[in-house]
This record gives sequence, C-alpha cells and structure tokens, in this order.
Amino acid sequence: MLEGKLLLDTCCGPCALVAQRSLGSENRSLHFLFYNPNVHPYREYRLRLEAFERLMTATRGEYTVLAYEPEEWIRAVAFREESRCEICYRLRLRRAADFALEEGIEAMSTTLFASPYQDHGLLELLGTSIARSRGLEFVIWDGRAYYRETISEARERGIYTQPYCGCLLSERERYDRTSRRSGETSRGQDEERAPGKGRE
Ligand code: SF4
Repeated sequence: MLEGKLLLDTCCGPCALVAQRSLGSENRSLHFLFYNPNVHPYREYRLRLEAFERLMTATRGEYTVLAYEPEEWIRAVAFREESRCEICYRLRLRRAADFALEEGIEAMSTTLFASPYQDHGLLELLGTSIARSRGLEFVIWDGRAYYRETISEARERGIYTQPYCGCLLSERERYDRTSRRSGETSRGQDEERAPGKGRE
C-alpha cells in the first residue's frame, strides 16, 4: 500500500475524476494541480477550469490552480511545433515537480494517464526523469479502463468535456483533417464523435 500525498498534474476535471477512481484505493491523499498554459484560447481555458473546480467541489478534492501562462507554452514550442507534445508534457511535469518540492510533497504523477489519446510511454519516461532529478517518486498508473464511462457520466451531469487536446494546433487538427501530422490522428480526436462532442 502506498502512503503519503500524491501530487497530480491535472489536465481537466473529467480526467481528475478518472484519477480519483483509479488511485482511490491507494492509501494516499491526492492533490490536484491545475496548470495548463497549453489550453487555448482563453474562453476554452475558462470552460475547463470551471468544470475542474465544479468536480473538485462535488468530490471534495484538494487542489491548487496556478496562473494561466499561455506565453510559456508559446515560447517553449516556437519553431519546434513538430515536437510540441513532448515539450508540452515537459513544461507541465516540470512545473508540477517544482510545486511538489515547494510544498514538501514526495510523489507526483499526471492525470494524462487517464486518456487513451496521450502517449503513455513518453509520459512515463519524462515523468520518471523529471521526478528523479528532484528526488521525487513518479507514480505510473493507467486509467484508460475508466475513461469512457467517466466522460459519459460527466456529460450526463452537465460538466463540460472538451473537443480537442488543448493548443490551437490540436484544435485545427481536430476539425481540419488535412492539417494532421502524417501517420497520426489528432491528439484529442475521437473519430466516433461529431465535432464539439469529443475530448482529450
Ligand atoms: S496536442 Fe495536446 S499535448 Fe500536444 S502540444 Fe497540444 S495541448 Fe500539448
């Protein structure tokens, strides 16, 4: 049984709910950190933040919201757009690791492990490396089995579920198939859903 507090880099409310269900049986308390400079435009960011805070209130989740800094994401990926997801993961995981250190939390992970659309292998590599460099434990988990039912439940409760991963480039890929990178579906793209109904 794992013990102590676990900090979770948090992409959105529904994935936080998946994390609560997947990690709830562990003997750890969860602290959710909402830091999403990768979500554009601002109105989309507000929708996701409000959905996250509603779910945290409803489930009595412990959480922190950091300032919205889209400039950080833009500067990080500029001229490296083809590698943007790795850069984006690094940006968020590093910020989470720094926050964990500041708060005296010894273990961290990410709610991105809830999503079938994210690169779990890359998250494991980056998360482990970033956490280890700061003397932290990185917890690897897999919430994909809970994903679909949790998203459906969130919708039934009237909670916003996003149609694309986050950045403007992913929004374009979601709606413009010709803009997708070769060999990939868009991150956040759900081919079964009509535009506006899918999510990360
Ligand atoms: S597609 Fe998603 S993970 Fe990739 S850079 Fe955009 S917001 Fe980040």
